[in-house]
Amino acid sequence: MQLKNKVAIVTGAKQGIGLGIALALAKAGCHVVVSDLDQTGCDKAATKIKKPGIKTLAVACDVAKKSEVDNLISKTLKEFGRLDILVNNAGIFPFVPFADMTEADWDKVQEVNLKGAFLCAQAAVKKMKAGSKIVNISSIASLVGFEGLVHYCASKGGVNGFTRALALELAAKKINVNAVAPGAIETPGATTAMTKEMRQGTIAAIPWKRMGTPDDIAQAVVFLASNQADYITGQVLVVDGGWTLR
Ligand code: NAP
Repeated sequence: MQLKNKVAIVTGAKQGIGLGIALALAKAGCHVVVSDLDQTGCDKAATKIKKPGIKTLAVACDVAKKSEVDNLISKTLKEFGRLDILVNNAGIFPFVPFADMTEADWDKVQEVNLKGAFLCAQAAVKKMKAGSKIVNISSIASLVGFEGLVHYCASKGGVNGFTRALALELAAKKINVNAVAPGAIETPGATTAMTKEMRQGTIAAIPWKRMGTPDDIAQAVVFLASNQADYITGQVLVVDGGWTLR
């Protein structure tokens, strides 16, 4: 998939799915802005992505903070003069039983997973031209329930609604907005969140009999970010090895 000389921002890109997406976009020819909470993490990821002909920029940004998001977009424009692709990947999934869930637990998840996508998309859209793409990383938790993740499931359901409504509004500007809904993917975040037993049970339930890799998700994102997806908008593409088929 060729995305030569396009400029892409990936949030939450120092590791896991975000890093996989950043690597795949760079491989497809994009210049990539690597963004995450800490500058050192961004710098390290940018070094991994760097290759001949590909420029990278590392910008620390908490997606839940408007001033930091505005800084991310303005630094991107200053460096590259354009923004073609935004991947809203930053997300958190802390397991908490519903009975113990505090208001702060609830707010934090909505702020990062849902408000973060809103802030980044709104700031990006002001600078994007026709043909630009926004890809939101949702989750199969937007479609099926998971115990201990009520706040997370709600936030990702919100991401799907956000994707559809924004796609409708941005159709006039010819900006595509889609989402990818991963199943269980091997990432540092997932490893921390899952016990060995949960992992074994998960693999047993997946028809493909393995967890996904960040690159499994990245390939779907690269497709939706390319002009081969020009007539696709407002969709949620499930990439889960068949987990939600039964
Ligand atoms: P991960 O390994 O935890 O990586 C997520 C990255 O986002 C981390 O570097 C994290 O930084 C960063 N981050 C957290 N809060 C942020 C904020 N406020 N602003 C900017 N960056 C922030 O997670 P992952 O598994 O790759 O997940 C990436 C995305 O895929 C998330 O949206 C997640 O919901 C979604 N997803 C994952 C799975 C899965 O099985 N892995 C399944 C479905 C959907 P810190 O490490 O410093 O917190």
